[in-house]
Amino acid sequence: MEVKAKIQALRDELNQHNYNYYVVDKPTISDLEFDLKLKTLQELENQHPEYFDENSPTQRVGGTVTKNFPTIVHENRMYSLDNSYSKEDVEDWEKRILKVLGDVNPDFTCELKYDGASISLTYENGLLKHAVTRGDGFKGDEVTTNVKTIRSIPLQLKGDFPGRFDIRGEIILPLAGFEKMNQDLIEIGEMPYANPRNTASGSIKLQDSAEVARRPLDCLLYSIVGNKLQFKTHYEGLQHARDWGFKVPKEAQLAKNLTEVFEFIDYWDTHRHNLPYETDGVVIKVNSLHFQDELGYTAKAPRWAIAYKFKSEQVSTRLNSISYQVGRTGAITPVANLEPVQLAGTVVKRASLHNADQIEKLDIRIGDEVYVEKGGEIIPKIIAVDLSKRRPDTSITAYITHCPECHTALIRNAGEAQHYCPNYYGCPPQIIGRIQHYISRKAMDIEGLGGETVALLHNNGLINDYADLYKLKVEDVLPLERMAQKSAENLINGIENSKQIPFERVLFALGIRYVGETVAKKLAKHYKNIDAMAGASLMDLILVDEIGERIAQSVIEFFSNEKNGLIIQRLKSYGVQLEAVERINPDATDKLQGKIFVVSGVFETFSRDDLKKAIEDNGGKVGSAISAKTDYVVAGDNMGPAKLEKATKLNVPVISESDFIKMLQ
Ligand code: AMP
Ligand code: ZN
Repeated sequence: MEVKAKIQALRDELNQHNYNYYVVDKPTISDLEFDLKLKTLQELENQHPEYFDENSPTQRVGGTVTKNFPTIVHENRMYSLDNSYSKEDVEDWEKRILKVLGDVNPDFTCELKYDGASISLTYENGLLKHAVTRGDGFKGDEVTTNVKTIRSIPLQLKGDFPGRFDIRGEIILPLAGFEKMNQDLIEIGEMPYANPRNTASGSIKLQDSAEVARRPLDCLLYSIVGNKLQFKTHYEGLQHARDWGFKVPKEAQLAKNLTEVFEFIDYWDTHRHNLPYETDGVVIKVNSLHFQDELGYTAKAPRWAIAYKFKSEQVSTRLNSISYQVGRTGAITPVANLEPVQLAGTVVKRASLHNADQIEKLDIRIGDEVYVEKGGEIIPKIIAVDLSKRRPDTSITAYITHCPECHTALIRNAGEAQHYCPNYYGCPPQIIGRIQHYISRKAMDIEGLGGETVALLHNNGLINDYADLYKLKVEDVLPLERMAQKSAENLINGIENSKQIPFERVLFALGIRYVGETVAKKLAKHYKNIDAMAGASLMDLILVDEIGERIAQSVIEFFSNEKNGLIIQRLKSYGVQLEAVERINPDATDKLQGKIFVVSGVFETFSRDDLKKAIEDNGGKVGSAISAKTDYVVAGDNMGPAKLEKATKLNVPVISESDFIKMLQ
């Protein structure tokens, strides 16, 4: 097959698999097969940059960084919705409609009101042209590169779609993905996100689209806007959108009258908690597009639609006690222990109180009757105290002054909400938590060793820090509870194998406050070995891409501690990777023989000089300006628009840094 046709066939196939997986939830191939096909396509595209297509499925991983999102005026204004909070409100709305429409029986479409961030997608000839946030309704931010990373949004439509139209929907963060993100944050000692909605809207405005690609966002569509549409009702429109490849929740339903509308509302008022995403109401829309036209808009919202808001579920129960948890970083979290109560289908026994300020703000006291509400959070939260039921014998809650685990006096840094136990080396949950983090899957991924065993090893005096793991022997761990010969051997093997884990993950595993996976990667790439990083000044660190003062300060603090220095020396002596292994073959090759490159912009892996050197080491030549003789332009961030234009005009392929690296491999 001709290369071009092969590339197209792979793109079509991968688009279809994306659709099967993310839109209809019925994958027909394994993830591995999918990855292999994607990799094949990526390789072909790298070898043939002339067939680059911004709508290729390979573009879903993101990579572009946007400093300022351009503003785009909506061709059709994005309206808000009028709200209603009772069935009477909805009946009044129907009366207002009938006054305009006269003696008719309009039917309605009922949809769930998805709780996320609204987005408008413009398609031209079946291709995603741009994606724009609601903004002020008249104009919004163009966030196309970020939106493209959302796998359920089709980049290429199927079937019989209009030549040009807008489709509106809600970008959401499904609950499971949200909880996973929060667990990962908690694992690195960071504050979890407050709720899925804000996290979703924050995500689509991130500057780094690769980070957006890592977030499990989804997009649910609810309305098509355009001229010359081939359907007459809103409900048909939804069905068409589905046929073209969009994700339109099947919960949307036709209602012949308000009785059926109310049935829909009643059903979802209770069943919405079983949905994989958050909803905050129902949207009722007049179904006929002709009637919609007749009804038109107020200054703010369509007259033909109304939102019915669910009451957020609250219950009241008694606060029995407050306990204080000590995290891996020493952060103290107060937790409310409640009289068990039913809420949104589950029994609630505990609620987070966040920090001392929160307790003070609520003026919450043991024995109080409190209101508990459930949002998308992992555990519910306390909204308020029912003061009418406060008993006279309660007293103001005094926040603890000493660590509940090691009795050290707590500290609270200026400007921080959390109290900390400063007993870094002597506080058991901190010691155990740090080692548990070290062995966790995203860090050293030590097979055969779990969190409970870590606690057991520590409690038996066998380990006090993660370096101690490497001196364990089979006979040391055998006497532990439920430890058989085989599992003891697996454990020791797992620890031994962790010596192969690359530097960037070791850096993450060290558990330096605020150094998560991404930051660890940046630091590893920049400093290349632990000694260079340990020697860096605050200023030095801040100059590293994406490292702010808070992170830099924390890194300095970590290395200024003598004990940490000793632990690192020991890790080094055991053979743990504390140095980045050059991934690019430094040996000269002739892979780029005779090719002329022009380098433009700022790069991630290479400095510009290193990049030029890599070109020359591998047989290529570096040109200073783009000309007809140029074979490739390697473009980094901030490449000038004039250069890009010139390259396009002369048909010179523009490749990214990662494309270039792949050329060398
Ligand atoms: P509000 O932000 O309260 O004015 O509500 C209007 C917003 O609800 C719209 O901008 C949409 O983003 C959102 N929305 C969620 N689900 C739907 C739906 N099924 N139909 C229309 N709008 C919806
Ligand atoms: Zn402590």
